[in-house]
Amino acid sequence: MVDKDYYKILELSDNASVEDVKSAFKKLARKYHPDVNKESGAEEKFKEINEAYQVLSDENSKERYDNLRKYGSGFRSSSTRSNSQAYTSDFDDWVNELFKESGFNNSAYRAGQKTYQSSQSKVEKIINEDIDANINLTFMEAALGCNKTIKFTHSAECKKCNGVGYKGDIGLCRKCNGRKVINREQVIGNTAFTGMGKCPVCNGKGTSFTEECKDCSASGGISTQESLEAKIPPGVDNKSKMRFSGYGNTIYGHKGNLYLNISVDESHPKFKRDGLDIYTKEEVKLVDLLLGNNINVETIHGQVNVSIPTGSKPYSKLRLAGQGIDGHNHYVELSLKMPKQLTEEQKELLKKLDI
Ligand SMILES: [Zn+2]
Ligand SMILES: [Zn+2]
Repeated sequence: MVDKDYYKILELSDNASVEDVKSAFKKLARKYHPDVNKESGAEEKFKEINEAYQVLSDENSKERYDNLRKYGSGFRSSSTRSNSQAYTSDFDDWVNELFKESGFNNSAYRAGQKTYQSSQSKVEKIINEDIDANINLTFMEAALGCNKTIKFTHSAECKKCNGVGYKGDIGLCRKCNGRKVINREQVIGNTAFTGMGKCPVCNGKGTSFTEECKDCSASGGISTQESLEAKIPPGVDNKSKMRFSGYGNTIYGHKGNLYLNISVDESHPKFKRDGLDIYTKEEVKLVDLLLGNNINVETIHGQVNVSIPTGSKPYSKLRLAGQGIDGHNHYVELSLKMPKQLTEEQKELLKKLDI
């Protein structure tokens, strides 16, 4: 519930002018500014003063506030409708309208960061919920699958406020000050998008917890180094991505994902990969092709004894079912091993064979 006496907060009487408001604010702001006043409660007091100033330093909003207090049942969301045209009974609408017209942004003050701005130029940098991590795999790790420990830094959920950034009572959202939207900048890919966006704390409702969480500087997240055990399945491709749900940044209660960028060394002295199939070459003698033979072939799963059928052609391929990646095939190309030199005896024999 919002039911505040902004005049009292500024130590003014109810008939104070805008000029009075401005000088009272200057005096009190100097006294309670968190950079100056380290006493406990000074920060809260300063925020109250700031809020009161934002409403009363503008003629139009001051008049509406005065009318609300005069005709309404107090400065709160449940104020009853009256005939006065000077205000709307719905507090949310009123605040929205107020901020739309005057364009100021009371929520720019953020505890913890010790920054204070009263203009609407404040842009909230929204970090992405999703984060990236990179991993390099050898040919065999990618082919057979593996377990890897991935180290990463993310904004982990603040335990004190459950990642929301705010706690305590429900009231006017401190982040957007009830505007429901904030001026935000978000980087997606290599592009920064700036513009008005739904307030992430109240999710565009205008109301939320009113107390800023000190532990996380009202961000909801605490930068934390973590690691996760990633089970890489067999057959991942180079430049593929794996998603790990909920391992990204926590932004005002929303948990993003971690995307693992996988680089695979595609070269191997023995194996060639095409999708999930494996290709190798074996040099065999002419006699093995002609008469058939058994040879040992190295696969990614180990040695396999393979029989060469009688009368195989050079450069023909044998299929080793299930010996590729994840139940796929391994193909062996039979290349012909030509003798470097023939002895006189071999030459004579070959002539006799006439093949
Ligand atoms: Zn909000
Ligand atoms: Zn927190």
